[in-house]
Amino acid sequence: MKNVTLDPENWNDPRELGTKMIDDVIKYLSNVRDNKIWNPIPEEIKDSFTSDAPAEGSNVGDVYKELLKTVYPYPKGNAHPKFWGWVEGSGDIYGALADFFMKGMNVFGGFGEHSAIYVEEQVLGWLKSFVGYPKDASGIIVTGSSIANLIGINAARYSKSPFDDRQEGLNQSTKKLLVYCSNETHHSNHKAVEILGLGKENIREIETHADYTINLEKLKRTIEEDKKQGYTPICIIGTVGTVNTGAIDPIDELADICERENIWLHVDGAFGAALAFLPEMKEQLKGLERADSIAFDFHKWMHVTYEAGCLLMKDKSVHHKMYSVEASYIMEHDKGVSAGPSFIHLGPEMSRSARALKIWFPFKIHGLNKYADLIRQNLDQSQYLSKLINESNQLELMADTTMNIVCFRFLADGMNQDQLNKLNKQILLELHEKGIAIPTFTVLNGNYVIRVAITNHRSRLEDFDDLVDNIVRIGNEMKNSQ
Ligand SMILES: *Cc1c(COP(=O)(O)O)cnc(C)c1O
Repeated sequence: MKNVTLDPENWNDPRELGTKMIDDVIKYLSNVRDNKIWNPIPEEIKDSFTSDAPAEGSNVGDVYKELLKTVYPYPKGNAHPKFWGWVEGSGDIYGALADFFMKGMNVFGGFGEHSAIYVEEQVLGWLKSFVGYPKDASGIIVTGSSIANLIGINAARYSKSPFDDRQEGLNQSTKKLLVYCSNETHHSNHKAVEILGLGKENIREIETHADYTINLEKLKRTIEEDKKQGYTPICIIGTVGTVNTGAIDPIDELADICERENIWLHVDGAFGAALAFLPEMKEQLKGLERADSIAFDFHKWMHVTYEAGCLLMKDKSVHHKMYSVEASYIMEHDKGVSAGPSFIHLGPEMSRSARALKIWFPFKIHGLNKYADLIRQNLDQSQYLSKLINESNQLELMADTTMNIVCFRFLADGMNQDQLNKLNKQILLELHEKGIAIPTFTVLNGNYVIRVAITNHRSRLEDFDDLVDNIVRIGNEMKNSQ
């Protein structure tokens, strides 16, 4: 049998295909404003994704044609200027190109003496300086804040449980370990707690104030009572930017409690910690540098191509001890390719992409002042939208707009809560189905609300005029036809 390889016989084939692919991506991005934000996927296209794996190969041009037909026209829409759903980033072509560069060379990001590892250390260093961490703090780039939260809470268990959890795993005392957070905390933290072998009973969800920040008095009282009952508080999770309304927990006060009670402070700053790039936001983020660990996503408000999250940990020795393993095949050597710093002892993953270049490259091109301006622009836009809502007698703001998230609903005379909930859901679905805009939804105090989360560098002020006009128009049409 002759040598078999996946490499092309003629390297001009992928070169031409690559050029065409870049053209098609740029065609999408450069026209994105004029394109419909979202298209439902026709059934026959969905059916095409159910065929068996191909035993034999096909011509690359034909496969690309299929991709253009079945994949290209049906993206989620989060690169569009009118996408304000959940908290998703709008991406950046330079990050995507840098990602391709690493993927093209198939760089392994786990460990070893090679450039990508140093790029990652540099990017982590930049973030450390913005959140006010010391230079010798630790960190790792991960897929997203779900994994970053997992690592942060794992560190809490590792360093604050009264037994050696790496040695003993779960034991009798595990039931007594408690994690505190507010009832506005992101679900990924609950998932993390469960993955760590703790359960819902190990979590104390503390009520929030009317502004959706954690009630400190309730928190303190709960901790006190729990300690009397023989529980061991190991972690408080504070959120900088809750997913529902963008609320910022009082991190400095949480840090005081943690210091006094010997509790680990983990901050979930998935999107909100981006405010650390704005000098004028220092007061709102007061105490962030006192957190033991911080989760942050570059792929949300920093627009880095998916995925790029990050976990910073202040105490390097905790981070280095909690995942370090010894195995003959991964011993570090003093020279050669196995000599470099290693990220495999800082998280659950071994094989991982070299994600830092897609942060490093666009940061160098645009400069951080530009990112700060983009964040300010989104904050201004959320104030502008809130003003439009306040000026309309058919719309009602449902939470204070303190960040980049605006929660509101359409009002109709004589409708009760249930009817309003249904109507607002219908309005939202109509916005999606007609491809007008993509805000999403949440429920606040039993009220279904339309939720606009602005982490989008392509949005303009007039897009929000347009959103409000459409919601009022659709709301009135639907109200009258009921
Ligand atoms: C998005 C988000 C997460 C989860 O992050 P992923 O990057 O999606 O894994 C956690 N917390 C908050 C507040 C978030 O907004």
